[in-house]
Amino acid sequence: MHEPHAIDLTPNEFQSRLLAWFDRYGRKNLPWQYDKTPYRIWVSEIMLQQTQVATVIPYYGRFMARFPDVHTLAAASQDEVLHLWTGLGYYARGRNLHKAAQMVVEEHGGEFPVHSLDAMAALPGIGRSTAGAIISISSGRRAVILDGNVKRVLTRLHGVEGWPGRPKVERVLWELADRYTPDTRLPDYSQAMMDLGATLCSRGQPSCSLCPFADVCIAHAKGEERRFPESKPKKALPERHTRMLLLQDPQGRVLLEQRPPTGVWGGLWCFPQFEALETLQAWLDSHAPGTQLEPAWSDFTHTFSHFRLVIAPQPGHCGDITTINETGTLWYDPDRPASVGLAAPVKELLSRLTQLREPGSHDNLIKEKAP
Ligand code: SF4
Repeated sequence: MHEPHAIDLTPNEFQSRLLAWFDRYGRKNLPWQYDKTPYRIWVSEIMLQQTQVATVIPYYGRFMARFPDVHTLAAASQDEVLHLWTGLGYYARGRNLHKAAQMVVEEHGGEFPVHSLDAMAALPGIGRSTAGAIISISSGRRAVILDGNVKRVLTRLHGVEGWPGRPKVERVLWELADRYTPDTRLPDYSQAMMDLGATLCSRGQPSCSLCPFADVCIAHAKGEERRFPESKPKKALPERHTRMLLLQDPQGRVLLEQRPPTGVWGGLWCFPQFEALETLQAWLDSHAPGTQLEPAWSDFTHTFSHFRLVIAPQPGHCGDITTINETGTLWYDPDRPASVGLAAPVKELLSRLTQLREPGSHDNLIKEKAP
């Protein structure tokens, strides 16, 4: 469910409350809030993308002292730009900044294209939200912003479920951001939205008691402020497949092999494993000819921290085999189990094999889901 919950507030009321709060509590003395040229706002927005305000301030001061306008930045060497960026991290930002300055000089005559969201967003390192921030703050034109701070406020205010990186969720958030963006006081409105997210509606412990929206906020009403915005879902683990040969000799002993000392199940004992039925059959032909394979059991999955192993158990019966006595192999007798380490799924499969020997259990076990 990605749809926003409705709140009892019109866009006009939202803007009035936000701007009244901003007039009283908003930040108005940050270095880039004096002389709000597109260039100065742009540099601040890029520096602030992954970095806290307090860290950015001295870097911003040094950067502006050396590159007071887009022309000096465009004419500098990349080394010098990155030198002044050193310590801010995410150096692609510095490289893009330099490239974008050159494009502004070469393609836009040294003027930022604040009349066009698309032209702004086409500059390296400037996404839709950053373009919106530069346009609205520096020119007062209506442009919508949706940076991390704004996303946090809107997901909480409207209880928007789902990770904001998902296109569907992002679309909902852009719609909300657009709905609330006014036609006037754009520089203050954009700054206020970012300030609210950065100061009151902070990630860890929002100060809801001071927030102008506490009475309508869905997350606050539920006491679930920290559940929003939802985090990125964990990546699905990659899947690997293996076929395990459950080979029994006439005495009911089962063939096991010792795993290499390092890696998955290092040093434990396991059934011989094969990638496919053909390689398993080829191995039987050379090591245990005449083996009768039974129908395979159902696949099951064992989950490791970094992958999921889908195991296909393949039971079979061989005659008396004397050839399989190599080091690292063991004919394991479930009635007199050797003291060896067994991987968990192997232990489970061995116990199923033992149950199978009990009269009447065969058919059930084959059909039953494996562990
Ligand atoms: S009430 Fe709390 S959670 Fe809701 S918008 Fe305000 S600060 Fe954020």
